[in-house]
Amino acid sequence: MRAVVFENYERFPSLTDAPEPRPGPGEVLLRVAGAGACHSDVSVYRHFKEGSPGAQRPPFVLGHENAGWVEELGEGVSDRVEVGAAHLVYGPIGCGHCRMCARGRDTYCENAATMPYLAVGLGRDGGMAEYMTVPAHHLVPLGDADPVDAAPLADAGLTPYHAIKQALPHLAGGGRHALVIGLGGLGQIGVQILGALTGATVIATDVKPEARARAERNGAVTVGGGDRQVEEIREITGGRGVDAAFDFVGITPTIAAAAGAMAQGGRLSVVGIAGGTHEFSFFTNPYESYVTNTYWGTVGELWEVVDMYRAGRIRPEVERFAMEDALEAYRRLEAGEISGRAVVVPNEA
Ligand code: NAD
Ligand code: ZN
Repeated sequence: MRAVVFENYERFPSLTDAPEPRPGPGEVLLRVAGAGACHSDVSVYRHFKEGSPGAQRPPFVLGHENAGWVEELGEGVSDRVEVGAAHLVYGPIGCGHCRMCARGRDTYCENAATMPYLAVGLGRDGGMAEYMTVPAHHLVPLGDADPVDAAPLADAGLTPYHAIKQALPHLAGGGRHALVIGLGGLGQIGVQILGALTGATVIATDVKPEARARAERNGAVTVGGGDRQVEEIREITGGRGVDAAFDFVGITPTIAAAAGAMAQGGRLSVVGIAGGTHEFSFFTNPYESYVTNTYWGTVGELWEVVDMYRAGRIRPEVERFAMEDALEAYRRLEAGEISGRAVVVPNEA
């Protein structure tokens, strides 16, 4: 089968032929409908070095944001899993036996350090291929929703959903303000989720004017970059600052902008993995404010994201690429030429 393979550290992936996988015990074989190209893949193949935090040993098939149709059940899988039905894939895979995994929080598995992989498409073969294998309990049924349009929910939907849900106490009540920095795959859905879950005014920013325009269509107030950015954000909040900020870039200047725009008691979630740093001291941070990081989300939250999608409350904007153009999707993602999410489509419905 055709597959996008991450072959070695600091090397652009290859489109190549790979053997078709077989489902092991407890797994299903999925015929992939859509696999999203996430910016984290760029870190995986371009920036991470062997042994650096987040690095996963090559080779493996990329694609950690997937949806598809169940093709075959492995040994021991319940026949309640409907062959032929469309499902979204919960990507993170923990040990399955610790207290974090027991809560569906495979992301924070207590045994992550000794697991051979982090997730499908991160150390283990993912969905940028015609077929993939997935633990059966990592499937979330999509019903009659189109699995290509839904594929970004698995990461670009779930990750901002988790970050925003953690911050909801800061956004409950009238007159609240949220800030979203970086309006790509994750940030655009983040704006929609904030609109669906809170009454907060959503302030959004991106270096690209077309990304800001898209966020405005989803109800955000936008600001540009430049020296006055933090001042402009604070002016919109009446001087108080934002109650919750979400940084979907994660370089030092964006973390600084988000921290500088924060209200007392506010919460900044750094989601972008660009490796920026933040300085803390008693005098430089607003009183009782929080700076934290979040990683992906739980399988239970993915069910909630699918419910919101099926209820029409969130709508990923998808640009489809044929399997043979998968590398072009990554090239354009790196060049900043994708707005919304690039989804590779290896099979016809
Ligand atoms: P993307 O490329 O689709 O979007 C990034 C956006 O940020 C683009 O619109 C770009 O124009 C904008 N941007 C870049 N530099 C900026 C700046 N200085 N100021 C304002 N905007 C800027 O990327 P994505 O797939 O949405 O991923 C976003 C980040 O989140 C990446 O770092 C990715 O690796 C990370 N990520 C983290 C998790 C997690 O669990 N923490 C999960 C998925 C992705
Ligand atoms: Zn575990």
